[in-house]
Amino acid sequence: MKLLEGKVALITGASRGIGHGIAMAFAAQGADIAFTYLSSVEKGQALEAELSAFGVKAKGYRSDASDYDQAQTLAQDVVKDFGRIDILVNNAGITRDGLLMRMGKDQWDAVIKTNLDSVFNLTKGVQRTMLKQRSGSIINMSSVVGIKGNAGQANYAASKAGIIGFTKSVALELGSRGIRCNAIAPGFIATEMTAALDPKVVEGWTEAIPLKRAGTVEDIANACVFLGSDMSTYVTGQVLSVNGGMLT
Ligand code: NAP
Repeated sequence: MKLLEGKVALITGASRGIGHGIAMAFAAQGADIAFTYLSSVEKGQALEAELSAFGVKAKGYRSDASDYDQAQTLAQDVVKDFGRIDILVNNAGITRDGLLMRMGKDQWDAVIKTNLDSVFNLTKGVQRTMLKQRSGSIINMSSVVGIKGNAGQANYAASKAGIIGFTKSVALELGSRGIRCNAIAPGFIATEMTAALDPKVVEGWTEAIPLKRAGTVEDIANACVFLGSDMSTYVTGQVLSVNGGMLT
């Protein structure tokens, strides 16, 4: 028996990186998958075929998670196409790094809107459906940086810390209706997002990680499978760190 058989998952930002890995792991565990992309149109379209090869239903939607109205329409479309939503993974995110001294308001706004507003937008979008079902698992992608802060990422760290407060509050509000809400705080995961970092910074980080390696998208995807599945039915309001021991 696969861990996500019979479940429908909606994953934001699955065209690349961690979101792509989550979609693949969910499909391997038997979930039907609705996913979004924004600028990577070709990769998004290709993913539909990749996921279908697992024998599950898969559909990609081009939708900007930072736009409230688009998120509501998306959630309605997914229910029309799939009939239900059991798991929401709020994964879409961006960085616009810079020291506070040089950080423009545009950098602040872009990161808060994409990383934090999106979590509100999509959670609002699926709320009614999950309430009717009296079940659901919401997984929000935070970061180690949202717990400990990071010089040069005040905007990103604020968005990721905001996600943690939101996650805990939603867990308290919706627990009595069978809806769980948890966050994952990845450490340093090798994706296009981290490929943009200075190699010296990367070397320093890797050396400081007790497990002596960067994480993989599969490491995060496996944690999402756990939180999305019935293996975690008594887990809510938590932040699961997946960071190789980087922060204990
Ligand atoms: P990535 O490789 O840059 O991929 C980001 C994904 O988000 C892409 O699929 C992108 O889609 C999508 N996206 C961006 N803005 C969007 C929007 N407005 N609407 C819909 N989709 C949007 O990043 P990643 O490393 O996989 O990161 C995924 C998540 O994990 C992010 O929330 C990130 O903050 C978090 N995280 C990553 C790390 C790490 O070390 N990599 C560590 C901690 C947390 P398009 O390309 O189609 O635009």
